Amino acid sequence: MTEVSVAKEDEAATGDLVVLKSVNKHFGALHVLQDIDLTIARGEVVVVIGPSGSGKSTLCRTINRLETIDDGSITIDGKPLPHEGKELARLRADVGMVFQSFNLFAHKTVLENVTLGQVKVRKKDKKAADERARALLDRVGVSAQAEKYPAQLSGGQQQRVAIARALAMEPKVMLFDEPTSALDPEMINEVLEVMQQLARDGMTMIVVTHEMGFARSAANRVVFMADGRIVEEASPDQFFSNPRSDRAKDFLSKIL
Ligand code: ADP
Ligand code: MG
Repeated sequence: MTEVSVAKEDEAATGDLVVLKSVNKHFGALHVLQDIDLTIARGEVVVVIGPSGSGKSTLCRTINRLETIDDGSITIDGKPLPHEGKELARLRADVGMVFQSFNLFAHKTVLENVTLGQVKVRKKDKKAADERARALLDRVGVSAQAEKYPAQLSGGQQQRVAIARALAMEPKVMLFDEPTSALDPEMINEVLEVMQQLARDGMTMIVVTHEMGFARSAANRVVFMADGRIVEEASPDQFFSNPRSDRAKDFLSKIL
């Protein structure tokens, strides 16, 4: 992999980067997030696991304001989430998100996918954006695909482009919502390896995944959700060998 900085160059900075306090959200009668308190330190890798429908995706989506919250507060780097306009676009750049379904711009080339936001939101000139894009595509192992369109790539390649696109914005934190769930089995590792490398490089990451191997090796902390609540938080070692709650024991017995 090529040397290209991905984390914001703010090395002296430490402390809490993402802070959720008493966050509640409803979808109609459904109380999808219930009194969520979650603090993520700079450089920390947090893996969120839990049964389907427990609110993991909604949690991720509130952090970059794809969903609003009913009450409570969310701050990124000490600042509350903006509501609209340019501030919101910058927030979305600061909080990179990678979805299960890749979500690349289908009518743009791979290279354009990775340069667009840099020029529009980060106001980089075209040449600098191109250089950064090519370095990132090289880093995630898809530089040979730069001039192709997303549909011409495998799922694993598309997901690595999606990661490069988010990284191009110099995010403060990266959210991954089941990034390997839609992939054929043989492509899962190529994506997990890119994420492992990112974790080793010090990126702050929130990762929703069922890949327990990744959780064990990359996570600093596991957050277990059920029915809209954080039921348990522990180190991966502690969580996998000695889950405290019945909900977590039950969940682990089904997936391990
Ligand atoms: P998870 O990612 O853990 O599977 P989600 O956050 O996607 O859970 O969903 C949590 C619950 O909220 C589910 O019951 C889901 O059906 C519901 N839900 C998610 N998005 C919406 C929405 N936009 N409108 C109504 N209900 C929703
Ligand atoms: Mg989900």
